[in-house]
Amino acid sequence: MKKINLHKLLVRAQAVRAHAYAPYSKYQVGAAALAASGKIYAGCNVENASYGLTVCAERNAISKGISEGEREFIALAVVTENGGSPCGACRQVELEFMSPDAPVVLADAALQNIQHTTVGELLPDGFTPRKLREGQRAHNNRKTTKP
Ligand SMILES: [Zn+2]
Repeated sequence: MKKINLHKLLVRAQAVRAHAYAPYSKYQVGAAALAASGKIYAGCNVENASYGLTVCAERNAISKGISEGEREFIALAVVTENGGSPCGACRQVELEFMSPDAPVVLADAALQNIQHTTVGELLPDGFTPRKLREGQRAHNNRKTTKP
């Protein structure tokens, strides 16, 4: 496999963080997702006065790639003021489109404190598309065996 340039990904996440729309939390986040195609998709958090409508940087970056036809991402970088890690919703979305062993790198705004982890470490035993298919298969098998 081609070596992944995590520093380049961090720099993209750091740059897009400047576009964050975070008037409520003041917690600006930038994320950059590297697609299997080699393209990088960057996204920032976009908050809303109706707080529940806020979309995180990680999900924005991944959704941007999905909108361009991507279906698999091989690495993710997230930059916040203090190196915070993805929320639960983002971890679930990451697992949807990334392998559990895909690298995730988290950094503070100055890229001084960098933490390396993986999608699987962030969301161990997460719910995956495969588990959904297995459940549906089991459901269908049970239906067909009933009289
Ligand atoms: Zn999130």
